[in-house]
Amino acid sequence: MVASGFDGVERRGLMFVLSSPSGAGKTTLSRMLLEREPGLKMSVSATTRQMRPGEVEGRDYYFVDKQTFEKMVEQGELLEWATVFDNLYGTPRAPVEAALSAGQDVLFDIDWQGTQQLHQKASVDVVRVFILPPSAADLEKRLHTRAQDSDEVIRGRMSRATHELSHWAEYDYIVINQNVDDAFAEVQSILKAERLKRERRTGLTEFVRKLQRQLEK
Ligand code: 5GP
Repeated sequence: MVASGFDGVERRGLMFVLSSPSGAGKTTLSRMLLEREPGLKMSVSATTRQMRPGEVEGRDYYFVDKQTFEKMVEQGELLEWATVFDNLYGTPRAPVEAALSAGQDVLFDIDWQGTQQLHQKASVDVVRVFILPPSAADLEKRLHTRAQDSDEVIRGRMSRATHELSHWAEYDYIVINQNVDDAFAEVQSILKAERLKRERRTGLTEFVRKLQRQLEK
């Protein structure tokens, strides 16, 4: 799990989790982060839900049937998994471990249940960010604009949002997505600051020793 900062000091890779009720803008923020942060790699989840128009197998999700998903659970292939809106969702373990050991940070778009499991397994390496919509009206508008789900599904997502919101206090950072550019700048600042945390920067002792040797000359 060794990554290297811009300053060349080695550090442990981090697991950057974005959660929010559906429609709070998390997917847009994730895409922006991936575009602008080359050291960050998305964890692609497996799910039993139906593919939506525009989604791509292996990019948005690995779409699998229930039997395949259950086999993955049995064989310990998932780092965490949960039931969300009557479908199963889970994070394949191998790509995350490979990315972290190749020195990359990993971005997760998972719900509060998955975040809890990840935090139990790797607390020091997990950074949890919760995205809030500025209002209920805004959330509903975004769910409709997305136009990928039926009215019934949207109603279900709205009522689940109340429940999901109640988990806000389990996160390290809360970002209110009033405006996507401001919210993005906030999320990016969190990532930048977390990358600089002393505890992750395993190469600092060596760096400072070298500095001291130079000063003593
Ligand atoms: P959607 O069906 O809108 O893509 O996602 C529904 C919810 O499932 C979102 O809140 C998303 O964060 C969550 N989710 C997606 N992948 C995973 C996963 O691998 N594990 C968990 N626990 N939740 C996930």
